[in-house]
Amino acid sequence: MWGEIVVSVSCHCENVVLEFAKLPSYIRDCDCPMCNRLGALWGDFLLSEVIVSSTIPTKTYEWGNGDYVMHHCPQCGCSTHYTPTQLAKNKEIVINLRMLARKELEQIPIDQA
Ligand SMILES: [Zn+2]
Repeated sequence: MWGEIVVSVSCHCENVVLEFAKLPSYIRDCDCPMCNRLGALWGDFLLSEVIVSSTIPTKTYEWGNGDYVMHHCPQCGCSTHYTPTQLAKNKEIVINLRMLARKELEQIPIDQA
C-alpha cells in the first residue's frame, strides 16, 4: 500500500525516521518567522506517501492559525516535519529536507516562496 520506499531521512539521533518513495521536484525555502528561525528547507508530500516512525514521540509546537503542527525530536532537538490539523486546507505532511545529505539536497531546485 505504501509503494516502494527508496528515501529515508532521520533526525540526528535517528529517533525520528521518515520514509517515502521519491524526492519532490522542488524544495520550499519559506520566508516566515518560524521557518527563518529553523533554517529548514521543506518538501511537500501527501500524508499517504510518507511513513513516520519514532521510538520516543516527537514534541510538537503549534503557532499562527493552528492549521499545522511542527514536530521536533525530544532527544536531539532536530526539526523534522510538520503535519496538518483538521483546520488545514491542504492535507500535506511537510518534511525538513535538510535531513538529506548535502549532495542530494543540492540536486533539487529551491523555490523561494
Ligand atoms: Zn533525534
